[in-house]
Amino acid sequence: MNKKLENIAEQVKTCQKCNLCDTRTNAVPGKGDSNADIILIGEAPGKNEDQKGEPFIGSAGKILNDMLDNAGIKRNDVYITNIVKCRPPNNRVPTKDEERSCLDFITQEIEIINPKIICVLGNTAYNTLLGGKEITKNHGKIIENDGRKYFVTFHPAATIYNQKLVNELKKDFKKLAGLLKDGKQSPQFEDRRCDFCMAKTKHEVVVMPKIVTRKRKWLFKCTECNHERWLQPYRTVAESLY
Ligand code: URA
Repeated sequence: MNKKLENIAEQVKTCQKCNLCDTRTNAVPGKGDSNADIILIGEAPGKNEDQKGEPFIGSAGKILNDMLDNAGIKRNDVYITNIVKCRPPNNRVPTKDEERSCLDFITQEIEIINPKIICVLGNTAYNTLLGGKEITKNHGKIIENDGRKYFVTFHPAATIYNQKLVNELKKDFKKLAGLLKDGKQSPQFEDRRCDFCMAKTKHEVVVMPKIVTRKRKWLFKCTECNHERWLQPYRTVAESLY
């Protein structure tokens, strides 16, 4: 683990800034890849998390795992944490004082990981980080704030009480995965005969934007001899990249 994150985890475990330290079994620091593109931020630990000292390992965690799986995101590739690091008694919503006491931890976690997207899970995280209120109106959207990109969605536990949200949450997670893929699209290939080596080979198809070529063109690159050929758009793979 990253030394700075280890240091924060140690501070979280011994923190006594608010009364939750009197009732917790374990404080729950964030967990995951310190180079993650995504940080997921929930509300506060529940019973299972309090027992084990790990975020999202109970029923909300199972739903979160399913959502990540469904969107093709590996849990090991993200960083997961909460606004408040200790369980509020009976899972009540954390107080503003409790949120404030923990705010410095989340600020540091974001700073150290420097993710491409901060995924805000549910009302507590939405309100604390962005001052937002109506998650139903704004879920699935990117909100830019202080030079960072926030993606807002429902808390996984919300689907336990409202099954209609399962599909919404699934869609949002797919959108989230799509946002990360933008800009690092996997290469596309098409079989064609190379004009240079004359072999029928796979050609990498690259779309050149208008600003580079004036007219939009497709570059076909032979994977056998590396010969490159510009073509006007008319092909199926190329069309799908347009
Ligand atoms: N709910 C949260 O917000 N966080 C957890 O870690 C578990 C449940």
